[in-house]
Amino acid sequence: MRDKKKKLKIMVCPVCGSTNIKKVSAFSGWLLPEEYVCLDCGYRGPVVAEIEVDEDEIEEDRSDRRGW
Ligand SMILES: [Zn+2]
Repeated sequence: MRDKKKKLKIMVCPVCGSTNIKKVSAFSGWLLPEEYVCLDCGYRGPVVAEIEVDEDEIEEDRSDRRGW
């Protein structure tokens, strides 16, 4: 039995649902809460949604979409 699947938390854009989220550390990052940027729709803000997925699901998703 393989019950050792890793669950990963990944961030998703609250606007478009993309997982192309990057954390931005602004100049004044020590003053402000961290911000995230969605590379797909351009959303920018401190709020992102988080979902839990199986590790291999992510792998699949990535190798599927990108050619590198
Ligand atoms: Zn987005």
